[in-house]
Amino acid sequence: MAPRLNLVILGKQGAGKGTQSKRLAAAYSIPHISTGDILRAAVKAKSPLGLEVSSILESGGLVSDDLVNRLVEQRFHEPDAARGGLLDGFPRTIGQAEALEGILGDDGVKLCINLDVPIDLVTQRLSSRRVCQECGAIYSDTDVEAISGTCSNCGGDVIQRADDQPDAIRKRLEAYERDTEPLLGFYEARGLLVTVDGSKSPDEVTEAIEKAVSDRGLG
Ligand code: AMP
Repeated sequence: MAPRLNLVILGKQGAGKGTQSKRLAAAYSIPHISTGDILRAAVKAKSPLGLEVSSILESGGLVSDDLVNRLVEQRFHEPDAARGGLLDGFPRTIGQAEALEGILGDDGVKLCINLDVPIDLVTQRLSSRRVCQECGAIYSDTDVEAISGTCSNCGGDVIQRADDQPDAIRKRLEAYERDTEPLLGFYEARGLLVTVDGSKSPDEVTEAIEKAVSDRGLG
């Protein structure tokens, strides 16, 4: 059996991780594992997990390492993750990165992609971002779907995420700098880090990532 392809994508909120992850997961036939999506789905379903985390998500704070580590471990036990997975939004702290090494064992992270985008650009992207509550499609506030409030993909409601409001954006970017940026050094020290300019067009970014993956004989 082919070795598992475990990829991590890092970058500030609004760097384009969601968009790139969907493309890469399809290109490499591995699941897109977004802890943010898993947690938002739980909030929407009002499950016990969702009720526990809803106020944390709304304020832009971080859920505990223990909780997300367990979610990721469970997700890797699902059959579609037998060939690996693309992690988006996890790990977010050094503690989570260490836990991930334990979860993946010998077939660890093969590459960590750092989507580098200046803070002004991500702030602008986040404040204009609108999302479909049903299918997760991403729009900008000037798109017809955002203006009409209806998704052209599935007919769902297009809204602004509570954590894309200015206060929550600031809090999330501060948390990224404090808790997540140290992960760049963590993966660099393991020879696994590649930095890609995330301010380019989505197609150019995808091309640069796919080149980095194939340059390492992965994918
Ligand atoms: P995201 O869509 O990745 O920005 O995640 C949305 C929210 O979910 C975050 O602001 C956190 O509240 C929570 N969350 C997602 N992933 C993690 C994680 N790895 N550790 C802690 N909290 C997380």
